[in-house]
Amino acid sequence: MRHILICGGAGYIGSHMAQYLTERGDSVTVLDNLSTGHRDAIRWGELIEADLLSPESLERAFTGRRFDAVMHFAARSLVGESVSQPYDYYANNVTGTLNLLQAMRRHDVDRIVFSSTAAVFGNPQADVIDEDHPKAPINPYGASKLMAERILADAAAAYGLRSTCLRYFNAAGALPDHGIGEAHACETHLIPNVLRAALGIGSAMRVFGDDYATPDGTCVRDYVHVQDLAQAHALALCYMDDTPGAHAFNLGNGRGFSVREVIAAAGSVSGRSIPFELAERRPGDPASLVASSARAREVLGWQPQWTELAPIIESAWQWHRSPPAWSPQPPAPGMAPAAMDVLPA
Ligand code: UDP
Repeated sequence: MRHILICGGAGYIGSHMAQYLTERGDSVTVLDNLSTGHRDAIRWGELIEADLLSPESLERAFTGRRFDAVMHFAARSLVGESVSQPYDYYANNVTGTLNLLQAMRRHDVDRIVFSSTAAVFGNPQADVIDEDHPKAPINPYGASKLMAERILADAAAAYGLRSTCLRYFNAAGALPDHGIGEAHACETHLIPNVLRAALGIGSAMRVFGDDYATPDGTCVRDYVHVQDLAQAHALALCYMDDTPGAHAFNLGNGRGFSVREVIAAAGSVSGRSIPFELAERRPGDPASLVASSARAREVLGWQPQWTELAPIIESAWQWHRSPPAWSPQPPAPGMAPAAMDVLPA
């Protein structure tokens, strides 16, 4: 049994991580500033309210507690927003990570699993992206995560920090039976927006661009269930026991689905028609991102359980059609972006 500090454990992926670790017998503590996460999503472990941009609050969090490892999910993570608010992204994702790593070093916590992203690759030069693909991010979000990856590699060499960067492709799905799912005050992600349109919330959803160099002109993404991401984190912890250094793995199902295909699949799952309208391209979006996760499967022994798109969407549909009372009801898809700009950092 280990004691894991989950930074960002009140958020979407972090809350699923807390459930996963607790179920397998580890103990968890959540560190979160509750800026975008939810107190009610913390159903496993104690909450420490702290902010990665406040080294003092991090110092208090680590003092008097012993963590075997840290999992770091706390970040700004919206591609479009990162283009309009780059300072926030570099501050939270780079400076915040650095503050966390320094607190870990002061308190002799020598291993971390870091949430990275397919956005570190930029516009892919291959149909399927493996770990050796060139890293050339095209938006501040991807750039900020790549900077943090570099810091982790340098820390391995200088201080012996053990780290595993897990580059998620498109996290999706929910565990409605455990009372957790994607609950953003301002929703920008495709699957939640499609499902909200299916529920008749707001008017039509928008499809951002249909003139990409993809089979149907809309962007292609590789959707991976949040519970499978949690499994990979747990495996990474074990891997680092025997393997020093800085590591990175891509996590996806290896199959790409276009925006139009996601809308069609969500229509089948929900049995509802999904109104959508075509809109301009969203700044910062690459045409296609599909993972090769061969390394994670071979080295970590990762075995995703949710390999088909329909069950992933079905789990999200169950969550969105009857969300808990605490889940925010974001503005309808198609709402003016100005409504998004006032959200706290
Ligand atoms: N997308 C869309 N309409 C929406 C939300 C997303 O057309 O309401 C598109 C978006 O432009 C991208 C894909 O869906 O091509 C996946 O976007 P998402 O925000 O879910 O994830 P990202 O790939 O940005 O991490």
